[in-house]
Amino acid sequence: MKDVASLFGSMVFNDAVMQARLPKDIYKAVKKTEAEGTRLELDAANAVATAMKDWAIERGATHFTHWFQPMTGITAEKHDSFISPMAGGRVIMEFSGKELVRGEPDASSFPSGGLRATFEARGYTVWDATSYAFIKDGTLCIPTAFCSYSGEALDKKTPLLRSMEAIDRQAMRILKLFGNTTAKRVITTVGPEQEYFLIDKEMYVKRPDLVYTGRTLFGARPPKGQELEDHYFGSLKPRVSAFMKELDEELWKLGVHAKTKHNEVAPAQHELAPIFSTTNIATDHNQLTMELMKVIANKHGMACLLHEKPFAGVNGSGKHNNWSIGTDTGVNLLEPGETPYENAQFLLFLVAVITAVDEYQDLLRVSAASAGNDHRLGANEAPPAIVSMFVGEELMGILEAIESGASYKGKGKHQMEIGVTVLPHFPKDTTDRNRTSPFAFTGNKFEFRMLGSAFSIAGPNIVLNTIVAEVLSRFADTLEKSKKFTDDLAELIKKSVGDHKRIVFNGNNYAAEWVTEAEKRGLSNLRTTVDALPEFVSKKSVDVFTKHRVFTKQELHSRYEIFLEAYCKTLHIEALTMVDLVKGKIIPASIDYQNELARLLKLKKDSGASFDTTLENHLLTAISKLSASILKKLEVLERAIKDSKDRSEIKALATFYRDKVFPAMSELREVVDELETLADKKRWPLPTYGDMLFSVI
Ligand code: ADP
Ligand code: MG
Repeated sequence: MKDVASLFGSMVFNDAVMQARLPKDIYKAVKKTEAEGTRLELDAANAVATAMKDWAIERGATHFTHWFQPMTGITAEKHDSFISPMAGGRVIMEFSGKELVRGEPDASSFPSGGLRATFEARGYTVWDATSYAFIKDGTLCIPTAFCSYSGEALDKKTPLLRSMEAIDRQAMRILKLFGNTTAKRVITTVGPEQEYFLIDKEMYVKRPDLVYTGRTLFGARPPKGQELEDHYFGSLKPRVSAFMKELDEELWKLGVHAKTKHNEVAPAQHELAPIFSTTNIATDHNQLTMELMKVIANKHGMACLLHEKPFAGVNGSGKHNNWSIGTDTGVNLLEPGETPYENAQFLLFLVAVITAVDEYQDLLRVSAASAGNDHRLGANEAPPAIVSMFVGEELMGILEAIESGASYKGKGKHQMEIGVTVLPHFPKDTTDRNRTSPFAFTGNKFEFRMLGSAFSIAGPNIVLNTIVAEVLSRFADTLEKSKKFTDDLAELIKKSVGDHKRIVFNGNNYAAEWVTEAEKRGLSNLRTTVDALPEFVSKKSVDVFTKHRVFTKQELHSRYEIFLEAYCKTLHIEALTMVDLVKGKIIPASIDYQNELARLLKLKKDSGASFDTTLENHLLTAISKLSASILKKLEVLERAIKDSKDRSEIKALATFYRDKVFPAMSELREVVDELETLADKKRWPLPTYGDMLFSVI
């Protein structure tokens, strides 16, 4: 391996490359586009395109693609080669400014939720100059936003960029009030921790449920699960280590700051965390990370599972969205400062987040909703479906003191009144942690823990940026009018704490009592995706997203449809896969085994000798009974699948899948899993949980 420093970013058309390869005036124009979102003149675009192409060809690229993030939650690309025919049957390699800044994929098959009828299938991809182009697998990838002919967002990047602008606008108003004249922009930053499973590829291909749905639909618990907690931070198995090494290298080449890797709690579960970057780049990089995990696992003879709950009975996988706000001058606004003024500013941003999370808890919940994540949220391993915040004891003490008007007497000599004395530095170490909280303050950032492992982080960050922008805008409205800034600021912080502290919960979020307590506090508990999604199109949601120009009403409604549709389709495919497996594998295996037992019984009887047949009788009886029960449950599931066809209204259909199809699936699974515990391991048609979870050695 080349040294990491020269490897890092070697496949990225980054700032250093641009500076070295672009004429000065063109470079300046690109920087302007990057910073201000202005359009690049065609001449300049042509110059950039040529430089990009030459650079890419030197690195072995033959194609280019507009890389975008449609509503499927994964990335899309359509490759065009650089070749252009010449007289005499030759070709030259060409790439124009027009091709760089705008593409027109025939994208009629991407979900649009009715925003774009297939007869006018035109969708445009537009270069996002704030995220660098890169080479992946011989193709120059240009990060782009994807929108319809009439300008509606058809992707996850467009609203994300809009939400970043919204919070920038509002946070800048606040900074101005504090006399900040140096910051030009406020940027949200994210570091997403990614969990995943690795299993042996041979096991994977023998499990149609994993192949079709990403999770196991059957499987009895193995004798050993995660109870010993001996996997967490354990030493890496050589195959896993080789995989992680190659993954790091490939990510580094693409400019992804892969930083931390370790084993997670469940057997076969691991985690990767990058160093944080701007939300937009973090989102692009997280998509690349998930993609490369799959590709590289495959090269190492393994399958990478990104599903939220690939195995019942062991932990599922989530994604922790570490989020903060900072200035372009490098100041983290969620970091307590050195001066009273800085601290007052910190407290204002802190209570803005608290207010936003409390007021828009439903939108945050929606942003973490999916069929896959329904298996985690509310189960005793992930945050519950109730959104609450952890701020730690010390900060809580300060907030309570502010509210009651008392002066704060913290540990040691810290005393504080807003704007007067210096705040203590809050501990960032792991002792003051609450790992059960969905939304935890960790010293200088918040960690939103409800996301599922397979998610694009765009959705949750769109919500987070927008709701905080909204609260900041209200704060700015009040304070801009103020004649007595310090007094009104103190009053605003105090009032916000009083109004919204119900969202703060520092206790154990997994405890059953919390559900009752949360209800008393009036917090919502949207248990499933179907409960949560309607909040996305509530008046409150439409108001906040349209006010900040993040989504239009139509865009919100189309997304609502797409999410519900995805939910229904996921359950539909799972149900069909179950039926297929039971008919094609489980029942034949059961018959095979019964046949064997019956033959043995008959042999013993026919022999004339008085052999004991207790075992055969017992097993045959039990298996016959279970098999009959399987048949019954299978019929119930098949009927439910059939009945789903009668429902065309999407919300009714989703409700039907949740209330009728899903329970039928669970019941069928239960009997099949019981049969597995009786069956002959040699004859069982699927690799077992034990086989899969301990398959990588
Ligand atoms: P912790 O010990 O709190 O988990 P780490 O330093 O391990 O902190 O960080 C966890 C994740 O949070 C990493 O991805 C890290 O880059 C990210 N992170 C740290 N600071 C910030 C920040 N200001 N904004 C966004 N993410 C951050
Ligand atoms: Mg973690």
